[in-house]
Amino acid sequence: MRFLLSVDTEADFWKYIQNPFYSFSKIYQIKWRLNKIRGKFIYAKNRQGLKNLVTFFKENQIPATFNITVHLYLKSCNGWPHFNELKPKAKWFFKKNWYYWDPKSGYSEYPGLYLGDFIEKEMKNNPLFDLGIHGFAHECWPLEESKIVDSGIRAAKNAANKIGVSPVSCSSPFNITEDKSNPSVLYSALRKNGFKIIRYTGLEDFPKKMTHKFKVIPPFKRYGLTFVHVSSTFDGTSKPGRIKRILKDIEENANKRDKNAVYCLCCHDFTFKSLKNLKIILNTVLKLKKKGKIELINMRDLLKNGNED
Ligand SMILES: [Zn+2]
Repeated sequence: MRFLLSVDTEADFWKYIQNPFYSFSKIYQIKWRLNKIRGKFIYAKNRQGLKNLVTFFKENQIPATFNITVHLYLKSCNGWPHFNELKPKAKWFFKKNWYYWDPKSGYSEYPGLYLGDFIEKEMKNNPLFDLGIHGFAHECWPLEESKIVDSGIRAAKNAANKIGVSPVSCSSPFNITEDKSNPSVLYSALRKNGFKIIRYTGLEDFPKKMTHKFKVIPPFKRYGLTFVHVSSTFDGTSKPGRIKRILKDIEENANKRDKNAVYCLCCHDFTFKSLKNLKIILNTVLKLKKKGKIELINMRDLLKNGNED
């Protein structure tokens, strides 16, 4: 089995992103708000979570995929439009101007909204890391019209290119990748702009429900892209019980899956004020690697071996 760690990299964006789940229960909405308040105490400040991860991965030679909210690729900006991207239009986005949080500034004043300096210096030339995208400013592209998605993905590519990164992989904010209303909208924009790999959690029926699926399977081809199915998610702030269940799941799968199957474990950079959970998981993963049961890869590595069906 192959093991792939996929880090949704948002730095300070978690504070500002708008909630697309307008149709969900009151309790859900309250929990979402409480989590933002709680986050101020338990999450890492600005880019500290990412720094912790990058340092640890380098020290221990751990491959990782960072799907970065693209505004973070910039070193500075003058606000919208950054690269002629159109603003999202889906229902909930009208609550505020989509770019209400944009300080039109740079990394020294806002180190949690611009990471261009850090990515360029510490991440971009390291073969351990695959640097991909995660929305331009955390949009939910599968729910937008194709011209908006096209303009956003093109802007994403241009922003990354500006510091010498050519991204090939994408993970979707809210893990919404494909919606019944227009299943291929994100995929065609990605393909048009040279992207090759998409992280996947199944088909959604928004806004009625969200039904993320978790699987441990080989990557597969659809719409001219390589799909990597999400297997599980955790964070730096997950409770011990959840970490225990994930360890058991990784071990069981490593023992029964063939070598092409991918265990894709997802997490968020800003939750890693402490690396305790990550170290517990990687300890098990590295033991399984020693036994020859696991190979560690990043998303870009999938292109080296050719794309499996
Ligand atoms: Zn900006």
